[in-house]
Amino acid sequence: MSEKITFPPVSFTGWDSLSHLVDEVNRFEVKKILVITDPFLKNIGLTNKIVEPLEKVGYITEVYTEVVPEPPLAIGEKLVAYTREHQFDMVIGVGGGSALDLAKLAGVLASHEGSVADYLNLTGTKEITHKGLPKILIPTTSGTGSEVTNISVLSLETTKDVVTHDYLIADVAIVDPALTISLPPKVTAATGVDALTHAVEAYISKNASPVSDALALQAIRLISNSIRTAVSNGEDKQARTDMSYGSYLAGLAFFNAGVAGVHALAYPIGGQFHIAHGDSNAVLLPYVMGYIRQSCEKRMKDIYEAMGFSAVNLSQEEASYKCVDELKRLVEDVNIPSTLQGFNITEDALESLTKDAIEQKRILARSPMPLLREDILSIYKAAFEGK
Ligand code: NAD
Repeated sequence: MSEKITFPPVSFTGWDSLSHLVDEVNRFEVKKILVITDPFLKNIGLTNKIVEPLEKVGYITEVYTEVVPEPPLAIGEKLVAYTREHQFDMVIGVGGGSALDLAKLAGVLASHEGSVADYLNLTGTKEITHKGLPKILIPTTSGTGSEVTNISVLSLETTKDVVTHDYLIADVAIVDPALTISLPPKVTAATGVDALTHAVEAYISKNASPVSDALALQAIRLISNSIRTAVSNGEDKQARTDMSYGSYLAGLAFFNAGVAGVHALAYPIGGQFHIAHGDSNAVLLPYVMGYIRQSCEKRMKDIYEAMGFSAVNLSQEEASYKCVDELKRLVEDVNIPSTLQGFNITEDALESLTKDAIEQKRILARSPMPLLREDILSIYKAAFEGK
């Protein structure tokens, strides 16, 4: 068996890696740059760290701030129309996954015809045929890994869908932990558990390979050991740096191995209840892993050890149970509600969540244990009751 391994062509990581921005932009023959971000990041001055050095050396920049969290399709359509109308030479996405996903979408679809809906994975009819504008992606959360993936996620009425193609991959990813210092504890927690979920699901994925395993285990080590500090003391440089590397590695791991059951069940929660992507993953992570535990005991023992625990005297079965307990403890320690009730989801919603989750066939196919309708409903019930 052989695997395709894909990384973005260039990444800069580590503290102050943003200092490489101007040199990187200089490599592309561009003049007019669209910086895509959200209004909050512009208001706190974070976007200036990108715009000012570029303007100082003569680039024309425009800051587009109509990004919203978990962007609905309509926001994507509006941005793509704007990009087509105003003729930019480059896009730079600055923000969490919401801004980065929209930036890569706009960069590619600026030079395509048709609506964004035409290119959606589940219902679209058109193919992406060329690369479009150069794209630089600069994450300000340690979570989604969007800076290294070929995916753009959009919220639909009751669920989520993606536009995906290798042309969406960033030309340059700049992953500077200094940009995450201002993240409040709640967002640090949700985005951090999102990154942990990417690594855990990549490690147990049916598509895992030795390359994705190495990336996933190191991501699990870094995130499990730093997330509590990053949440309780956001100014801790080491914890922010570890979270930044952890989410970057987790992004590369899941991009190459895929995510599975947690994401398939989380998408409808985000779609129907407008709960942040990281929170929906976090609340489901222990329950999905608890349900599929038997199908991947050895791998869960590895995860338990990567989380910093000794499994020397434990059987694979014992370690896999403890792994589920520690994942649950981690979610609770960073103050994310550990049941669906904690997010005000009522029991009568579980059927409709199940109906939407089974549509995520491509993602479910990577689960080491097949997840059918009754399995999915059982997991939602367990997550509802906290059992
Ligand atoms: P986000 O981009 O929605 O941002 C969440 C909040 O954090 C926003 O209010 C934002 O203003 C704030 N924020 C961001 N950086 C900050 C900073 N440095 N300081 C203070 N506040 C800051 O959150 P996210 O979790 O990063 O992204 C979620 C989106 O990414 C979802 O739509 C999800 O489906 C998508 N996603 C994409 C991929 C991918 O591979 N493309 C993977 C996972 C998730």
